[in-house]
Amino acid sequence: MNAVEMNRIRLGRTNLRLPVCGLGGIALGRPDVGDMEGAEIVRRAVDAGIELLDTFSAYGRSEWRIGEALKGRRDRVTLVTKARASFTADQFVGQIEGSLKALGVETLDALLIKNVDDDARLENVAGHVATLRRLQAQGKVRFIGLSSHSPHHAMAAIRTGAIDLAEVPYNYANLHFEPVLDLAAEMDVGILAMKPLGGGRLFPGTEKGAPETVETLVTALSFAMSHPSNPALIPGIGSLRELDRYFEAIPRLRRLSPEEKKTLSDAATAFGADYCRACGYCRTVCPGDIPVDELLPLHDRGRYVRTDDTNRQVLRGHYQKLASGAKACIECGRCIEECPFKLPVPQRLKEAAAFFAERPSAPPRAK
Ligand code: SF4
Ligand code: SF4
Repeated sequence: MNAVEMNRIRLGRTNLRLPVCGLGGIALGRPDVGDMEGAEIVRRAVDAGIELLDTFSAYGRSEWRIGEALKGRRDRVTLVTKARASFTADQFVGQIEGSLKALGVETLDALLIKNVDDDARLENVAGHVATLRRLQAQGKVRFIGLSSHSPHHAMAAIRTGAIDLAEVPYNYANLHFEPVLDLAAEMDVGILAMKPLGGGRLFPGTEKGAPETVETLVTALSFAMSHPSNPALIPGIGSLRELDRYFEAIPRLRRLSPEEKKTLSDAATAFGADYCRACGYCRTVCPGDIPVDELLPLHDRGRYVRTDDTNRQVLRGHYQKLASGAKACIECGRCIEECPFKLPVPQRLKEAAAFFAERPSAPPRAK
């Protein structure tokens, strides 16, 4: 893959000047990706000009694969990982030490306090910042950040003044975080825009369901990069084919006018707020190991895009290939607690089952 020229942005008070396009590491760690392909995605991305990598220890094998790929390339990237806001101080440090080991590095460019999403986790932020200051003094961490799925809690943490970087969802179907981006711009906090493709499932919201077109990527990424806070984009990439499409899209990105942005976000209101962002958090707690993060996005495509019979057959084919069907759900509700967007997953699974008229599936296995 040839190197691609990208516009550079200044990442807030970190003063890092990075290409606008980075790489999110969640899809990279999936079991179906494999260690070789996972590491190869990162190698090719970095060799083609990506300088920002975002990951987390609970993203499957993501950190390890990135560590493999960075052998001989460490000084070419800004490396970001996370530790849970909900953890005690000891657990928090333990998670960071584990990340340093898995990544095979001595210093993290940024450590994000992960999922500052509720009052209890917000209360923990000051303690975690104190811990991170200590790690900064030891040379293990350069910048302090947060990730959040709650605009209110993200803004409260940013207002403490201790946060250099904030990672939040931002795409044309999810504008709830615009106030966070506005505040970040005011306080010179860098923004990492996660889910710029809505979990990989954003599509133009017009005539035909064609989510795999490069034009779709160009539209969604151009929207996300056009906010005045100058976010860095970190879409998750889970295959070499996706990486090729990403690099096909990158030279065509451009800043959209306010009118163009409004047209897109108006069209996206058809999505509603209850679409699945495919983050996979719920899957880690599901006793049936139901691939909610794959099932619901398929159903979303069916719900929101006008599908002809051919498209519907294609979606049904994907659905039938998944390991367990939606009927394996025992309605324990753990997924709802874990979902940052509080999606009514059991109900959505029933709707998906009806939509795809699935075959009977095996009962969930104990975990
Ligand atoms: S409610 Fe269903 S999908 Fe959610 S965690 Fe329980 S079994 Fe899994
Ligand atoms: S249901 Fe929620 S937690 Fe699960 S994959 Fe979708 S957005 Fe993520």
